[in-house]
Amino acid sequence: MIPAAFDYEVADSVGHALSLLAGREDAKLLAGGHSLLPVLRLRVARPSLLVDIGRLEELSFVRDAGDTIAIGALTRHHDVVTSPVVREHNPLVAYAAGLIGDPQVRHRGTIGGSLSHGDPASDLPAVVLALDGEIDIAGAGGVRTVGAADFFRGVFETAVGPGEMVTEVRVPKLGAEHVWSFLKFRRRSQDWATVGVAAVAKRSNGGVAEPAIGLVSMGATPLRARASEAAWAAGEDAGAVAADGTDPQSDTNGSADYRRHLVQVLVRRAVEEAASR
Ligand code: FAD
Repeated sequence: MIPAAFDYEVADSVGHALSLLAGREDAKLLAGGHSLLPVLRLRVARPSLLVDIGRLEELSFVRDAGDTIAIGALTRHHDVVTSPVVREHNPLVAYAAGLIGDPQVRHRGTIGGSLSHGDPASDLPAVVLALDGEIDIAGAGGVRTVGAADFFRGVFETAVGPGEMVTEVRVPKLGAEHVWSFLKFRRRSQDWATVGVAAVAKRSNGGVAEPAIGLVSMGATPLRARASEAAWAAGEDAGAVAADGTDPQSDTNGSADYRRHLVQVLVRRAVEEAASR
């Protein structure tokens, strides 16, 4: 379908983007457009104004920020994959970004768009959730920081309010003591995940400490697999309890029951893969 008519403005700074957003209640930001344009074409969204932030160089960066890595909202997935800082200090993020879609998607799609879209089938939200990342949201009142645990609110719903935009995402640096894995099951090589699993922990006394597991496509938001985390820490079968607390949907990629089975397999494999690093 052809999208409903909309006005179009190009923002030349964050301040300009915010003032354009403030002028129209139903305005939407356009970053890479790889999630928004399909939604417009289906007429699921009919914003009267698109504010194009795709050329905001100030939001396209990867910075070593001490204990964390700061990634600008407009940073393309490809630039996350190839960033020496991300590859060295958080290979989990670089690896997961490299499994998003195909090269075209990775050259257009942005980390800010991926998180803000609030699609539980997206990969990076579950990764940032497992890492307890932080997200900066700019608005008329300045910049506020929201932890990943409070950012994702529902299907296509996040903590980003009207007139606000994500400017930066921060994830912790991982050290030599960390083990990690990212696995996703897809029917075809470039499909979205039927289920995905991001797992990270610290090596400790022959086992692990501070395990964290984020799940893709197992509920209305990315989820933490808390029961699996506890089992992993205790040296028990993390896979057996991976579906606890989840609420997956049935769709063309798989039924809810299939997902509940698949997540057990993938969590078990992710923990094994992490341990082998
Ligand atoms: P846009 O489409 O421009 O925007 C998406 C939404 O976020 C819009 O509502 C927009 O207003 C809002 N938004 C954008 N930037 C900001 C911001 N800075 N602050 C606040 N709101 C903002 N993703 C995966 O995770 N895994 C996959 O396997 C995968 N496969 C894909 C395959 C295809 C064929 C396509 C088209 C997409 C795929 N994607 C996948 C999605 C891709 O990663 C998108 O690029 C991403 O989800 C959205 O990023 P974007 O920059 O394109 O955002």
